[in-house]
Amino acid sequence: MILGLYLNELKKKYVTIVILHFCLHCSLFTTLQSPQKKQHFDYTQCPKNAQCSREKKLAFYMLPKMSSNLSKQESQAITEAFFYIFNLKKKSLVLPLKTYQQKSRFEKYFGFPFEGFQLGIWLINRIHSLKKGDTGFYTAINHDKHLILGTSFFQLSVLDRAIALLHEAKHSEGSKFSHIRCPNDFHFLSHRNLEANLANTLSCDSRPDGAYGITATFLFEMIAYNLENRELLVGKYNSELARIIAKQPSCFFNL
Ligand SMILES: [Zn+2]
Repeated sequence: MILGLYLNELKKKYVTIVILHFCLHCSLFTTLQSPQKKQHFDYTQCPKNAQCSREKKLAFYMLPKMSSNLSKQESQAITEAFFYIFNLKKKSLVLPLKTYQQKSRFEKYFGFPFEGFQLGIWLINRIHSLKKGDTGFYTAINHDKHLILGTSFFQLSVLDRAIALLHEAKHSEGSKFSHIRCPNDFHFLSHRNLEANLANTLSCDSRPDGAYGITATFLFEMIAYNLENRELLVGKYNSELARIIAKQPSCFFNL
């Protein structure tokens, strides 16, 4: 019985994914890609709107649950970040092929080649709900796939919101991806929060495939395929990589 229900759910999700994949080539994503229409597209009202197409409704139903404590503009900012990722498509490679092959880690860390739709599915599978709340020093906090977003999240650009969601989604894979403390003499800046003093805070990783590693890997593909301003992306890429440090020596060895 339980297995039957599970298979039924799986079937429904698969059908939704297939239909949504088809929609990548239809009006929904064409509409979102048009800068002129994008400004006027109301991400939050679509499911209730009688004029809304079936494809748009399906896309909305795939997104994680959004708390009622989010304002219409905040829900829109979150949805826009999800659709930003779903819409990413490779252009021609601007890096030398040899450099790309040496440095690209996307397929190794994500398990599939760089592509917006699959990355969007990867993301929504790791985020069950989103709400606004107190996140203290951090932009967002992940509690067992339920995200709390601080006010600073909504002040970020759509690219930085997308990066923050990818970062938090990686934390859903378990405590082995928890952060370690940055060193006391850590001088690097946070590209998302210039005021943050990262020294001695839980804002670094000891592994290359953690939350900072996967966002660096994502940004590398964005650079390689010329998907945003290059200087902007390189700054963010280097900033994310700077958070990956060697594990701090234990207290025992400090004695
Ligand atoms: Zn984190």
